[in-house]
Amino acid sequence: MNIYLLLGSNINPVANIKRAILEIEGLKGVSIMAKSSLYETEPVGILNQPWFINCCLEVSTFLSPRELLCQTQGIEEAMERKREIRWGPRVIDIDILYFGEKVISDNDLTIPHPELHRRLFALIPLAEIAQDFLHPILKVGIKELISNAPPLKVNRVYRKGTQYL
Ligand code: AMP
Repeated sequence: MNIYLLLGSNINPVANIKRAILEIEGLKGVSIMAKSSLYETEPVGILNQPWFINCCLEVSTFLSPRELLCQTQGIEEAMERKREIRWGPRVIDIDILYFGEKVISDNDLTIPHPELHRRLFALIPLAEIAQDFLHPILKVGIKELISNAPPLKVNRVYRKGTQYL
């Protein structure tokens, strides 16, 4: 269905990413179709904080984009994410990157995610599971997005298909 989520954490990150995947698997009306490897990524904005672990998921759902956001925000709240510091350490962050070809720009929901094309920590995991998908506004593929994004250190730490789950 070309619906892609980005998970990120830099507090006990592997355990929290695993838990978020299980929570998403448990959502009614949402199925996980593909998972990327886990990547260790350099923080953006506030540099003096632990590196993040990021992972992309492809999901299939009959929920609307807003219903899916509501569900993923429920998971963030259940995992006691603290929201005090923008860009700061976080237990879990779940972003909707693409929702098929849909383009939405509301106050509380922008799809495609407005920062996607500038964030290698999202683009590199996404490239593993969305090789052929074109950005619905920019009309370019993931390889071109990656080659135009600002540099960032991104290392694959757990390969797709290994026993990190
Ligand atoms: P953040 O602190 O980066 O997790 O931002 C959370 C806020 O971003 C929430 O209030 C959402 O309503 C808003 N938001 C806008 N577009 C998206 C999107 N595509 N995915 C997730 N959150 C979004």
